[in-house]
Amino acid sequence: MKISEIKTPAYVCEEAKLRKNLEILKRVKDESGAKIFVALKGFAFSGAMDLLNSYLDGATCSGLHEAKYAAKYLKGEICTYSPAFKDDEIDEILTLSSDVVFNSFNQWKKYRQKALNSGVSCGLRINPEISLSPCEAYNPCGENSRLGVSLRNFEPNELEGISGLHFHALCEESAQSLQAVLAEVEKKFGKYLSQMKWINFGGGHHITRKDYDVDLLIELIKKFREKYGVSVILEPGEAVGWECGYLLASVLDIVQNGRNIAILDTSAEAHMPDTVLMPYRPAVRGECEDGKFEYLLGGNTCLAGDIIGLAAGQSLYKFSHELNIGDKIIFEDQIHYTIVKNTTFNGIKLPDLVLLKENGEAKIIRKFDFDEYERRN
Ligand SMILES: *Cc1c(COP(=O)(O)O)cnc(C)c1O
Repeated sequence: MKISEIKTPAYVCEEAKLRKNLEILKRVKDESGAKIFVALKGFAFSGAMDLLNSYLDGATCSGLHEAKYAAKYLKGEICTYSPAFKDDEIDEILTLSSDVVFNSFNQWKKYRQKALNSGVSCGLRINPEISLSPCEAYNPCGENSRLGVSLRNFEPNELEGISGLHFHALCEESAQSLQAVLAEVEKKFGKYLSQMKWINFGGGHHITRKDYDVDLLIELIKKFREKYGVSVILEPGEAVGWECGYLLASVLDIVQNGRNIAILDTSAEAHMPDTVLMPYRPAVRGECEDGKFEYLLGGNTCLAGDIIGLAAGQSLYKFSHELNIGDKIIFEDQIHYTIVKNTTFNGIKLPDLVLLKENGEAKIIRKFDFDEYERRN
């Protein structure tokens, strides 16, 4: 299929851009000796999993469903962590996973015997209580955080059987931020590090962003590995799917009410949820700062506030040409934290999943229709 034949709405993952990200991650692996798992929480696009298999070491999963997905679509290791595991899921999780990370000593004591019998490598999530996250909703180390054991609640006498420590403190952060977090981890938990086999540095490393200091990251990992004699794991989600595709929509109508308003066959609320929650304004391909034609881009739901960019306070889009009914609109960088989070709110159609291959062919990976809505309601 050609690009022009893609039916909207659709998430279009661009294989060439994804490969570029994976090349950068592979360089980090090769030069630092770290393992890299994709965090399925942020990036799960089945049409791209074969490509991931040729670069990464496995997946990090938030629970049973992601672990099952990893077992089906990915090779390599499966690391599963949940804030709390459930009795009726833990056996299957232990069967599927190579590493399991417990969030509290309660959980560790509850499932310790089962976990050790199953042969998985057991880890514990610690909370270093430092984070440079710009936004509280995305700060895993904020006040009253339920994620990980803080030093105050650490039980050194219960570490027998624990092979690894895990922390996740960053969100869209730099290598300098990781450096600060590592210093805090060493200060608080330093005496336990050498008795571990692995330390998992979590996600939130924006490794594939243009200004990320990849050399510093490599240096930090190498030093840490040498100092403590442990293996190091990174589990980025966003950095895998960063700027590797778009959400394609069509203009269905144009109305006026104080402004020109284009109504699109997509939705901020249902298809780009982080633009509302984070919030941020997604870039549109071809928009131009001094364009004379200004539009609000509205979703095709009945939610009054379903205007793209509204939550971020920047909802005006400018173009050098007039928009017409039937035009295509491309929202950039909409592959991570979209497909994994979208909803059928208002009965709006879920965007199809399309892989734009390196040879220019557009391949439909998933098509969604009424049954998706019906099954959930
Ligand atoms: C969200 C999350 C990740 C991935 O974070 P990104 O910001 O997408 O890199 C990794 N590990 C854990 C435990 C997470 O909660």
